[in-house]
Amino acid sequence: MRFHGGYLPRVAGRPSSMIRHAPVPDQLVIRLRQGGMTYHGAVGNGETVAFGSPLAWAEGAGGRIALPAPVTGVVSIDADASALTLKVTNAETTPVWPRQPPERIPAEAIRESLACGGLWPLIWSSRTGGMPMLDGSEEPRRILVNFLATEPFRTRGKVVLQAHWEQVLTGLRYLSRLLAEYGLVHLVLTEPDDPVAHALQKETTGQVWMHLETAPLRYPVEHPRVLCGALRRGDRTVKPDETIWILDAQAVQAVGACLGEGLPLHERIVAVGGPGAANPGHLRVRIGTPLDRVLDAADLDETRQQVLRGGLMRGTPVQAADAVKYDDDAFFVLPRPAKREFLGFVNPGFDRVSILPCFASRLTGAADRTITASLRGERRPCIACGLCEEVCPRGLLPQVLHRYLYRDAIDEAERTGLPLCIGCGLCSYVCPSKIELRHEFAQAQDRLRREHEQAQAVETVNEQREESRQHEKEHSEDWRK
Ligand code: SF4
Ligand code: SF4
Repeated sequence: MRFHGGYLPRVAGRPSSMIRHAPVPDQLVIRLRQGGMTYHGAVGNGETVAFGSPLAWAEGAGGRIALPAPVTGVVSIDADASALTLKVTNAETTPVWPRQPPERIPAEAIRESLACGGLWPLIWSSRTGGMPMLDGSEEPRRILVNFLATEPFRTRGKVVLQAHWEQVLTGLRYLSRLLAEYGLVHLVLTEPDDPVAHALQKETTGQVWMHLETAPLRYPVEHPRVLCGALRRGDRTVKPDETIWILDAQAVQAVGACLGEGLPLHERIVAVGGPGAANPGHLRVRIGTPLDRVLDAADLDETRQQVLRGGLMRGTPVQAADAVKYDDDAFFVLPRPAKREFLGFVNPGFDRVSILPCFASRLTGAADRTITASLRGERRPCIACGLCEEVCPRGLLPQVLHRYLYRDAIDEAERTGLPLCIGCGLCSYVCPSKIELRHEFAQAQDRLRREHEQAQAVETVNEQREESRQHEKEHSEDWRK
C-alpha cells in the first residue's frame, strides 16, 4: 500500500499486550448519544432487561440500529433522558441468537444481526463516509481489516488477535458473505515476515477472497480515508467508484462473537497507556462501566493524571462521571504537573515533544518524550519550517491554510484543500510553534459546512418561488384563454 506523509510518534507508556479484566460494576451507564447518533429508549423506568435485549434504537443508514444491554439488569432513565442506568442483576453472557454457519446465512440476516447486536456503526463505508447502508443497497467490492494502531496508544490488532484468534477468523468468514461478486477482504498488517502475518497467511491459504497487505507503521495509516487512498494508489485494479468498507480487528472479533456465538456487543478491550499510566496495558471492560471504575482498575488518580478518551492525537479530556461507550478503545494518560515550567519551550532538552532538529530529543530516537498536561510557553508565530507539510497524510499545506484562515480568507482555504483535512492532528503535534492547526481547521470546516447548508437552503427557496411564479403565470394564461 502506498502511503503519503505520516510520522510515528515515540511516546513513553506503551501498553503491554496483557489484557486484564476490569470487574463489572453494580451499575452501568449507557449514554443515548453515541458515535454521532441519537438513540431513543426502548425500555421503561424500572423494567428488567435481559442481556442483549435492545435498550434503545436509532434510525439511520436505511434501517434501525440497537444499543443492546451489556448485562441483565433493572433500568432507570435519567431525568434529562440522555442516559440509562442499568442496575446489574446478572453479569453473565449467554447466546442471544442461534448460530448459523457462514456458508448458509443470507447477507440480509447478517446485516440484521449486526444491527441488532449494536455492531453496524463499527463499519466505515467509503460510499457514505460513515456507516454503510443497512438496506443492502451497497455491496462492497473490498473490505479492509486494519490490524494497525499507530496513534499512541490504541488497542493493537495483534493484542486482539492473540486473545481472540478464532473469533477474528470467524468474523472474516461472515464478512466475506457481504462482499459483492468477486470481492476481496484485505488484511492490513505491518510486515510480511511478521509471525502474525505468517500465521494468518497459513490459516487463510486457499481462500482466494483474502489478501494480505502491508502498510508502513506511520500515524495516521489506520484512518479510514488514508487507508482507502493508500489502497487505491497501490492497487490499480481498484476502481475509483468501488465501495470499500473498513473495520478494525476488534470490530471483526465482535462480528465473529455475534454471528458465530450469538453474543451482542457488550465489552471492549481498551488500551490504557501514556506517560502518566502507572501500569500501561489493556483492560477488558463491560460497556457502560463508569470511567472512575476504569481509572480505579488501571490504578489512576484523576487529581494526579489527566485522561484523554482516544489516543494522544485526537483524544478529548474525559469526565470521571462518564462511562465506557460502544466504540471506545483507548484512554491516554498524562501526568498533571504541580506547576507550570517557566520558559520551558526554550530549553532544547531530551524530553521535548518535537521532531524539530534543534531539539535534542530528535537525536535519541527512542521513547524519550515526556508529555504532560501542562502548557509550555506562549502562542508563537509560524516560522515556516515546513514540518507540518512534510507529515500531512493528505498532501496539504497546513502552514498555507493557517495563513489563509488567519486572514479570514476561508474561500482560498477551501480552494487549497481545507475540506480534505481528516483532523489527524499530526501537523499540530510536530509544529514547533505549537499552533493549534487541527483545531483551527476543524472550526473552519464546520463554518464551511454551515455556509454550504445555508446556501443550499436559499437555493431551494428560490427554486420553489420560481416554480410557483411559473405555475401562477401558466394559470393566468389559461384563465385568459
Ligand atoms: S490535521 Fe489535517 S492538515 Fe493537519 S496533518 Fe492532519 S490532515 Fe494534514
Ligand atoms: S509546523 Fe508550525 S511553524 Fe512549521 S510551517 Fe507548519 S505551522 Fe509553521
